[in-house]
Amino acid sequence: MFPIEKYHYAESVEDAVRYLAAHKGAKILAGGTDVLVRLHEGKSDYGHLVDINGLDELKTISMDESGAIFIGSRATFSEIINSEIIRQHVPMLAQALLTIGGPQVRNTGTMGGNICNGAVSADSACAALVYDFDLQIQGPEGERTESIHGFHTGPGRTILQQGDLLKSFVIRPENYTGFGASYIKYAMRGAMDIATIGCGTAIKMNGDEVETFKLAFTVAAPTPIRCPTAERTMKGAVISEESLERLADAVEADVKPRTSWRASREFRLHIIRTLAKRVTQEAVTNQGGND
Ligand SMILES: Cc1cc2nc3c(=O)[nH]c(=O)nc-3n(C[C@H](O)[C@H](O)[C@H](O)COP(=O)(O)OP(=O)(O)OC[C@H]3O[C@@H](n4cnc5c(N)ncnc54)[C@H](O)[C@@H]3O)c2cc1C
Repeated sequence: MFPIEKYHYAESVEDAVRYLAAHKGAKILAGGTDVLVRLHEGKSDYGHLVDINGLDELKTISMDESGAIFIGSRATFSEIINSEIIRQHVPMLAQALLTIGGPQVRNTGTMGGNICNGAVSADSACAALVYDFDLQIQGPEGERTESIHGFHTGPGRTILQQGDLLKSFVIRPENYTGFGASYIKYAMRGAMDIATIGCGTAIKMNGDEVETFKLAFTVAAPTPIRCPTAERTMKGAVISEESLERLADAVEADVKPRTSWRASREFRLHIIRTLAKRVTQEAVTNQGGND
């Protein structure tokens, strides 16, 4: 059995926040694909749970008249992948989430959990960074909006405080309209594997020249990152073998890969250079298709 000492079933977002604020160490249970694995491993840091699986208002995926897209923190990967709004306007997000685990994990796991667990390998993180997600968070002091930029503070760590509950992600129209985007996950296995390196980009062309270029990586530094040096290098460039080689050189200034049992630092750097070029070419091709 799971070593759960205390359990609270949240009746509302306010009830969950009130309970979390009043009980130090209490943690949120969403899809459980991280939490229950930790409990199964006997890790007691999740012994006191606040179950938010009754809060259906956190599952909505919608778009307002301005074109802003809202994704509830409890929307599962499959619900996001199958959403017409996501497929039409931010297809790279669906592309990235399709690389996660297998069907069971995608039918249960949530993007809220994927971002809030602070994992450096989270497959939704590159999309969140290149689409410049905003996060609507309910806390003991009320609701606030935080940017995804700076949300991750270290491996497994985020800016969330005791009592905080992520309600939804917001994608502003200026951050996706007219962009082509793509995501590539390099992992040892083709499925059911955590990324060795994840790479995502969004690009907006002005004729043959790059108008806006956004590049993000997972597992290339202690947190998911954007690459300002590489992004500056591509601004105004024409896509060519030379400019892509300059991109691969520039990205080395943005990343800090390390050696782990999955790959050596040198091998990761090689993958990072290769994916930066490849995902950029795919995004240019996709820009032709995306509205
Ligand atoms: C077999 C398997 C394969 C996997 N493969 C992948 C993979 O390929 N890529 C990948 O990125 N991940 C993978 N994962 C990890 C996992 O599925 C994801 O991280 C998932 O997104 C976690 O979401 P969840 O809803 O299950 O979160 P939970 O396990 O319920 O919670 C995860 C963490 O987030 C916190 N949390 C959850 N919701 C909120 C909220 N609304 N506000 C504040 N905090 C919150 C919880 O307190 C906990 O700390 C895999 C997991 C398994 C078991």
